[in-house]
Amino acid sequence: MEIFHISAECYPMAKVGGLADVVGALPKYQTNAGHEVRVIVPCYNTKFRNENDFESVHQGTITLGNFKFPFNVLKETTDKLGYELYLIEINELFDRSNVYGYEDDIERFFSFQIAALDWISTRNKVPNVINCHDHHTGLIPFLLQYAYKYESIKNVKTVITIHNGLYQGWFGFDKLQYLPEFDLVHVGFLEWGNSLNSLAVGVKCAHAVTTVSPSYLNEINISANGLESLFNMVRSKSRGILNGIDIEVWDPSKDIMIAQNYAIETLENGKQKNKEKLCEQFELDPSKPLFSFIGRLFEEKGGDLLPQASALALSENFDNINILILGSGNSAIEEQLIRLRNDYNGNYNVFIGYNEELAHLIYAGSDFILMPSRVEPCGLNQMYALRYGTIPIVRRTGGLQDTVIDFGDNGNGICHDQASVGDICYSINRAVKLYDDKIHLNKIRNTGMKTDHSWERVCQEYIEIYTLIIEKNEV
Ligand code: ADP
Repeated sequence: MEIFHISAECYPMAKVGGLADVVGALPKYQTNAGHEVRVIVPCYNTKFRNENDFESVHQGTITLGNFKFPFNVLKETTDKLGYELYLIEINELFDRSNVYGYEDDIERFFSFQIAALDWISTRNKVPNVINCHDHHTGLIPFLLQYAYKYESIKNVKTVITIHNGLYQGWFGFDKLQYLPEFDLVHVGFLEWGNSLNSLAVGVKCAHAVTTVSPSYLNEINISANGLESLFNMVRSKSRGILNGIDIEVWDPSKDIMIAQNYAIETLENGKQKNKEKLCEQFELDPSKPLFSFIGRLFEEKGGDLLPQASALALSENFDNINILILGSGNSAIEEQLIRLRNDYNGNYNVFIGYNEELAHLIYAGSDFILMPSRVEPCGLNQMYALRYGTIPIVRRTGGLQDTVIDFGDNGNGICHDQASVGDICYSINRAVKLYDDKIHLNKIRNTGMKTDHSWERVCQEYIEIYTLIIEKNEV
């Protein structure tokens, strides 16, 4: 079947978080399974855009109220990604280095969705399925069915995959004028709670809704930033599918971003070499267990707990552990984390920013990865950690609950229930004891490295949903 994925992010073209990893990997495995898969993302000014070759395959102009934006559809010309990548080039809106965070984000992602559908509707082939991802593409299931200009593709089936339901793309009624003309009888689909809400539109209008883990599907029926009752209403067309990981990009035996490659048999030595490199870079002691955090420094990730938890764990275990943090986000959290360097020099360090290469080295060189998340729709870090023989320390929530089992229950990691400083420190203390029991430690590491989280297994679940909505119009 012909499948389009339309998304704001796709690794390696543009990455902010897990959304990019999923949209950069799932299509590759769907292609390998024999499908024609095409990915559409905005043409940001990124390294990948500037270092690769593209050809123009379509040109058009979209109208947004009184504004007109010419656009170009660019196709990546090599086969190296394993699927066809298309960029929507609208220079005025996307020729910027960041993916999100601009005042005109609503206009940017409206334009992106309209340009993508304009192009798809002019092709002489009608796709079988469009898989939308998060609120940036939430209008597509609505526009396809009700905007007059998309009559030729109105029967295309749509799926919306929710990677993070906290962000919903709210917009005011004044922005309605930006949408292509549609039958006003259907305007109610756009509304949620006296506002217009892109994610709610997608959830209402798509033929199927997927979340990135089964536990997250249960959670959003209870807590979803105002959309709980909507998720309850659409439960029968919803499925939770645990994300996979790209085992070619994330492979300690081949990863070119780490200091030394290793496999299960060479884990201990390989991890130590990577740890030495990290510790040299961050002035830490490679003879001590290394606890790391990688991620966005926000409350949803438990980022606000990190400064206090780090300080407490370091004072309790002084001279016994290292803590290293890589991330960016809330500036108050960033500042607190930077200040901690003064008190725990030699045992603690932080890198504020985004650094893909460093992230790989941290997965390889750390002993434990901290994930004290309040909300974690799936979480990829724990799966990367397991693959690199690094033990995840997680709060039981969302996808973390679906992938990490406490070692006390013969599992692969360390789990706690509360997003609290106390629970994090308690888990760190358990980890310190485990670190000294090398036989047990290596057994858990080996189990983690053997776990199969590849997309091969998971991608079939998406295909099954596509097939059901194509054949039966329901899941
Ligand atoms: P999110 O909610 O941010 O999408 P996920 O766990 O699903 O969380 O995915 C996070 C992805 O982003 C992982 O690939 C992780 O390694 C990466 N990542 C997050 N922050 C950083 C950072 N500061 N530098 C490098 N990679 C990062």
